[in-house]
Amino acid sequence: MDIVSNFQKISNNIINKNITIIAVSKTFKLNQIMPLIHLGHKHFGENKVQETLDKWIPDLLNEKNIHLHLLGKLQSNKVDDAVKMFSYIHSLDNEKLALKLSIAEKKMNRFLKYFIQVNIASEPQKSGIALDRADNFISFCLNELKLNVIGLMCLPPMSVDPVPFFKQLKLIAAKNNLKDLSMGMSQDYSMAIEFGATYVRIGSGIFGERN
Ligand SMILES: *Cc1c(COP(=O)(O)O)cnc(C)c1O
Repeated sequence: MDIVSNFQKISNNIINKNITIIAVSKTFKLNQIMPLIHLGHKHFGENKVQETLDKWIPDLLNEKNIHLHLLGKLQSNKVDDAVKMFSYIHSLDNEKLALKLSIAEKKMNRFLKYFIQVNIASEPQKSGIALDRADNFISFCLNELKLNVIGLMCLPPMSVDPVPFFKQLKLIAAKNNLKDLSMGMSQDYSMAIEFGATYVRIGSGIFGERN
C-alpha cells in the first residue's frame, strides 16, 4: 500500500470534517512526504526540532500553506527554532517552557496554537503536566501569558484500554473551557474520535512502520 492510498483510506473513514488528521512524518524524508503535499494535505507532525529544521524548507511551508505540529518534548534551547517552524505545539507542559515560548512569540512576532500535554495516567517517566496541577497550569498559560491554548493532548500508556484516559482528558478540557483534544494515533484513532478527539496524530498508519 502506498502513502497516498493509506491516507485516503483513513480520511474516508473519518467522515466528520471538523477532525484534523495530523500526518506524523517523523523519520520519513521529504521526498516520501511530497505525494501527500501534492494531494493538498496541510497538517504534518514531527517529534524533533532539529529533524524539522533539516527536513522542512520554510519556502515550501509558506507556498503550500503547511502547518507543522510539534509532538515531542521541546528543550529550552530550541524554543526560537520551534516558534519559527511550527504552527502548533502539543507538548507544552511546564511553566518555564511556557514563559520562554511567550517571550519568543513576541520577539519573532509569530503566534502559535498550543495543546497542553497532560500526564493522564500519572506515569513517572512520561512528559505532561501532573493531573493535580493541570487546571492551574492551563489558567497560567491562558490568563497570565496569553498563550493561545486551544486544547489538551495525551499519550495513554501502551497496551491498555485508552478509553478511560480519553474520557478523562475530555472532562479536564470541558472544565477549563477548552474545545480541542489531540488524542488518538494509528492504533486507536477511531476510538479517540468516538470520545471527542478533534485532532488525531497518525504516523505508521499512513507512512508505514518506522525503523
Ligand atoms: C510518533 C507519534 C505519533 C504517531 O504514532 P503512530 O503509532 O505511528 O501513529 C503520535 N503522537 C506522538 C506524540 C508521537 O510521538
